[in-house]
Amino acid sequence: MKFLLISALLLSFVTHAHALQNSNNTVVLISLDGFRWDYIEKHGAKNLAKIAKQGVRGSKMQPVYPTKTFPNHLSIITGLLPINHGVVDNRFCDTKRAECYSMGKGRDDSTWFNGIPLWNLATMQGLKSATYFWPESDARFNGMTPDYYYHYSKHSDYQNRIEQIIQWLKLPAPQRPQLVISYFSLVDSIGHKYGPDAEQTKQAVQQVDALMGQLQQRLDALEQEINLVIVSDHGMSTVEPNQSIAISNLPKDDKFMVKNTGPRVLIYANENTTAADISSYKARLSKAAKGRYTVLTDNQRAQYHYQNNGRTGDIILQTTAPRSFADSGEVNYLGTHGYAYSDDMAATFIANGPAFKQGITLDKVNNLDIYPLIAKVLGIELLSKIDSDGATLWPALKN
Ligand SMILES: [Zn+2]
Repeated sequence: MKFLLISALLLSFVTHAHALQNSNNTVVLISLDGFRWDYIEKHGAKNLAKIAKQGVRGSKMQPVYPTKTFPNHLSIITGLLPINHGVVDNRFCDTKRAECYSMGKGRDDSTWFNGIPLWNLATMQGLKSATYFWPESDARFNGMTPDYYYHYSKHSDYQNRIEQIIQWLKLPAPQRPQLVISYFSLVDSIGHKYGPDAEQTKQAVQQVDALMGQLQQRLDALEQEINLVIVSDHGMSTVEPNQSIAISNLPKDDKFMVKNTGPRVLIYANENTTAADISSYKARLSKAAKGRYTVLTDNQRAQYHYQNNGRTGDIILQTTAPRSFADSGEVNYLGTHGYAYSDDMAATFIANGPAFKQGITLDKVNNLDIYPLIAKVLGIELLSKIDSDGATLWPALKN
């Protein structure tokens, strides 16, 4: 027992020294939910434009499929595709577990997830990590949590989040996190309600832009080696409610269970449903589509890295903007995301700080590449296999 304890201490000392040797860089990673790739120009985000111009900007960042909040945040933070980290949609079922997941469920049950999130990767190698919200950051991945974290509350004041980030970075070195992560949902909520082109969405962009400008100034004033990385999870498309597809009007079959997720419908076969039942229901759904949606083929699912694994559904219906699925009648929102990748679904990537080049724009970057990029900046090693070689973001780094 004593020997084990000493070994553990020794190991923690060795890895800590190793990490410090590699990098004094701090990373502050911010997610602005639903901040479409073109909002900086479209809605006049002056501060973000400046931060990008003095650093690196990915003109468009490609999210993973499906272009939803939880799958993408988990992919950014683990470097894994949704079928590998496990969160294949904001809401989905697992036919083997005979149980369904919905956003935030990891707080009570982290067995839904696979992978090593960046905050644990940092902690495992002797750095401290802090999160003021990130989807599922209060879940015990690998049996661990970030060193500092909060349980999610959408009511938490935005200014308080900035104050806490700065306070963490003013802690004495042994307590100070070298990885600080935070999340702001406003632009997504307003974008859903009013659509991407609305004046209200512009105002939300400007509010978050002012906050990011303030954050950058206050980080500069700390005179540490701090890198600010600002990303979003996906874009936003305009929805026409009068083009809604009412699921209640589609062919029904009690051998199946239906989960509506906006642009897509996941359909799960009940126990004892045969392959022939699935084929026949697929055929009836295809016939009822009349050009409004497609029933995904196995080939399409393979292209999307979304093969059937017990969570992703036995049948998937998918539509394109401005259509969206409603349970019945019409949807009550003017913007959404979750469609297959198109320009409207492209996300934002900005990085600024001592580790990054200045004044460059990268054409198209991949959000799975953020994980190895941040690990590199922090000087820590990847400890497991991921679904990224980092290729689209290596050109962002100095050296
Ligand atoms: Zn989102």
